[in-house]
Amino acid sequence: MTVPLALPRETARPLTILYRGPLASCDYDCGYCPFAKRRDSREQLRSDRAALERFAGWVEGAPERVSVLFTPWGEGLVRSWYRRVLAELSHLPNVERIAIQTNLSARPSWTEAADLRRLALWGTFHPDQVPYERFLARCRELRDRGVRFAAGVVGLPEHLDAARRLRDDLPADVYLWVNAAEGRTYSDAEAAAWTDIDPHFAFSRRPHASLGAACRTGDSVVSVDGDGTVRRCHFVPDVLGNLYDGSFRAALGRRPCPRPLCDCHIGYVHMDALPLYDVFAGGILERIPAAFGTGPALGPQARTPAAGPQIA
Ligand code: SF4
Ligand code: SF4
Repeated sequence: MTVPLALPRETARPLTILYRGPLASCDYDCGYCPFAKRRDSREQLRSDRAALERFAGWVEGAPERVSVLFTPWGEGLVRSWYRRVLAELSHLPNVERIAIQTNLSARPSWTEAADLRRLALWGTFHPDQVPYERFLARCRELRDRGVRFAAGVVGLPEHLDAARRLRDDLPADVYLWVNAAEGRTYSDAEAAAWTDIDPHFAFSRRPHASLGAACRTGDSVVSVDGDGTVRRCHFVPDVLGNLYDGSFRAALGRRPCPRPLCDCHIGYVHMDALPLYDVFAGGILERIPAAFGTGPALGPQARTPAAGPQIA
């Protein structure tokens, strides 16, 4: 379906964007991550900043109501331009949700500049990278500040004790998700242990067969990189067009998934066959189930029902 650029905002369909710019560096050193302790050059950081600012300018002028999940390779919130752009975007009238995947290492005082009705954080706990008490204190501070967030861990056996402790110590309204570790098979007993922590672990436990399956990506959800190249999701390389020349709009539409498996929450959450638009209603992008959540009241589109056009 084509959405003309001049379409009035109130009639254009909402669009959810997964944005990943050139940034590829992190202040942590997780053994399971290719970006651990990587450094970007000054030039790479300049490019990332310029790309992010260009993207933010596009969002400001977009005819659609827009929701964005920033999914950087590495850690964005240690960079001032991510903190500033997230805060600025949260104030735009056409923005419904601005969220970012983060290790929560950055102090959260920057959120004072944001509209907390629209901001959300996807915070991952890496038990071998940060003292337990520091991560817990960070979660408590976010909650005290009224910031909407979820915390989570990778389901590795060596993380189990820390994850149990975190579940016990976090307030009941803070969701703690568990991601199945890539390539790992879980026995029923192991899965039960993780399900005690995250009642929705079953969705992550095994990759989802997706070849030919209906998926909202490419239609109401797209992936955008630093050059503005638009793809349906982070996992399918086919290009739909470009954000900045508007060429992607002509390619928007429903089409089946071309990949055999979808094993990442930011992808399979959009599959029609899974009930996750219901389970995570109001928090699809930031991975907060409808039954959980802290922070101020959500905007109206954040409550879009399962089959409707997406926000996340
Ligand atoms: S915090 Fe995230 S990006 Fe950084 S090294 Fe760990 S897994 Fe990778
Ligand atoms: S099912 Fe997953 S891999 Fe397939 S199109 Fe959807 S998000 Fe992409």
